[in-house]
Amino acid sequence: MKLFVTTGMLLTSLLLVESNGQDKPTEQDLQSASHYRPHQSKGTPLEGLRVAIDVGHSRESVGALSARGIGEFYFNAETAKVVSRVLEEAGAIVILINGDGMTTGLAERGASAMKAKADCLISIHHDSVHDQYKKPWTYEGKKHLFADNFRGYSVFSSSLNQRADSSRTLALNIGEALYETGLRPTYHHNEPIEGENKEFVDQRTGVYEFTNLVVLKSSPMPAILLECGVIVHRDEELLVQQMLYREMIAGALVKSLSKSAQAGTVGNRKGKGGFLKRLFERWSN
Ligand SMILES: [Zn+2]
Repeated sequence: MKLFVTTGMLLTSLLLVESNGQDKPTEQDLQSASHYRPHQSKGTPLEGLRVAIDVGHSRESVGALSARGIGEFYFNAETAKVVSRVLEEAGAIVILINGDGMTTGLAERGASAMKAKADCLISIHHDSVHDQYKKPWTYEGKKHLFADNFRGYSVFSSSLNQRADSSRTLALNIGEALYETGLRPTYHHNEPIEGENKEFVDQRTGVYEFTNLVVLKSSPMPAILLECGVIVHRDEELLVQQMLYREMIAGALVKSLSKSAQAGTVGNRKGKGGFLKRLFERWSN
């Protein structure tokens, strides 16, 4: 599928990065857009950190379908490529999990990351909404389902992960870094409806607790899942495919991973008392 999005359209979309579903940017939207700035890292702040980047879903089971009928797996794979490049430029050793889209199991992703001695795992996904919000429309002669009600990113951690405290801290750092770039979260996972009902860890920055998410609870290292944007939303589907958007996500990950590594909660290089903190965390969970 060929996409043509002008810079003007992209900026308009960025101005609309709010979860209120309104078509016109409010004063608040404009203020948040003025804070829009991708994180630029200097030097190699992630030197030696081993980061597993998991491409969510597979070729066989593609996950959500976008408003234009593209499987989520393909969005995840493209974003994971950009994230991997930017993390490597920042000095990280990236372990790409399911890069070929042939991994169907969930628990084996954490196991692969463990085998590769990853310091943490980041699972890359793109989001959908509950079926009750979806409506039919026709795009290029084909019928698809869309929902323009919600847009934005979400970050999840699980209290059942063996390194739950570090996972939560990493999720909070990522939410904060994404928010600082000018992106805004979606709140629909907190709705009291079946399949949602997720509690906020931090509402402002879009961080949720997702206790039974298999890829998180089965990973032996700090792990988070990132929903980069809502692809069933017609504008956001186009926005998340922009290189700039993917680099904004990647830059926020560099910043947040660097913060967690400095604090000693991810990796084992810097940070005071990191080793004891990790040992205590394993024992207490
Ligand atoms: Zn997914």
